[in-house]
Amino acid sequence: MRRFDDNGLMVFPSEAMRELRESRHIVVIEACYCPRGHNLINERAKFSDFSGILLRVRHNAMREGLVALSPIFGDKSRISLGIELEKGMVMKLLCPECGIPLPVYDECSCGADVIALFTRPVPDYGDCVGICNRVGCYNAELKSGNELLSLASIDEG
Ligand SMILES: [Zn+2]
Ligand SMILES: [Zn+2]
Repeated sequence: MRRFDDNGLMVFPSEAMRELRESRHIVVIEACYCPRGHNLINERAKFSDFSGILLRVRHNAMREGLVALSPIFGDKSRISLGIELEKGMVMKLLCPECGIPLPVYDECSCGADVIALFTRPVPDYGDCVGICNRVGCYNAELKSGNELLSLASIDEG
């Protein structure tokens, strides 16, 4: 086990990770934050031994709930609480603590938005995890300083 960098990200050997069998390491997001600095990692949502990323999600006034995402980059596991997610639905992602909408970082190839979760308590688009806000679209990328890790490049090996 060695540190990937100082931004709360770690790299683990990937014996157990089938989905990422092409790559030698898996990346686990250990910390990510809303723009106000609340940590979105919540130990009540466990994925294997790792604490998940807890987000408040809103589809419209009638549909709101919580979603926990796996902190393992590239892992598609999700748990929804109090809301039924339908494939294709575009969600607003909010901080579960203060309710601030998480900022749009880019446009996804599917037409929805890529939302930024900052890997430092101070918002910086150079250090963030980007995830698509459409249910069923698993486009995600990780920016750390000059490095960019996108799931598309993992898929291509
Ligand atoms: Zn917050
Ligand atoms: Zn998308």
